[in-house]
Amino acid sequence: MSAMRNDEDAVTTPPGAVTTPPGGTAESSAPRGRRRRRLLFVTVLVEVLGTVIARRAGYALGLGTLVRCNSRHVFTTIWIPGVSVKALRVGWWRVQWCPVGRHWTVVRPVREADLSEIELRSARSHRDLRLP
Ligand SMILES: [Zn+2]
Repeated sequence: MSAMRNDEDAVTTPPGAVTTPPGGTAESSAPRGRRRRRLLFVTVLVEVLGTVIARRAGYALGLGTLVRCNSRHVFTTIWIPGVSVKALRVGWWRVQWCPVGRHWTVVRPVREADLSEIELRSARSHRDLRLP
């Protein structure tokens, strides 16, 4: 009986123990930091690509971004992808203070071409805090 148990142990342990090189455990801490850096890089890349695509589509993201709130107010804000201290980002939308209606709302960028003359003038005259 005891001889059989010893056999089982002998069968299950060797493969993994033999193939793992001694240096494997020492290297395991380095890839973790590299993976975190790669994740940060991918995040930045996605934000940059998103900005490029949005700009190509006619959205002027940056210091003078035209946005429309849920109540259809338009105003100018600073929209720097990946950076926001005064807004809660939800992808293409942001929860932000609307200086026109003086309320918290969901805003999203609008194209200058999609605004009427009156809306554009209103948007240019309403700027929120100069923070991204
Ligand atoms: Zn509003």
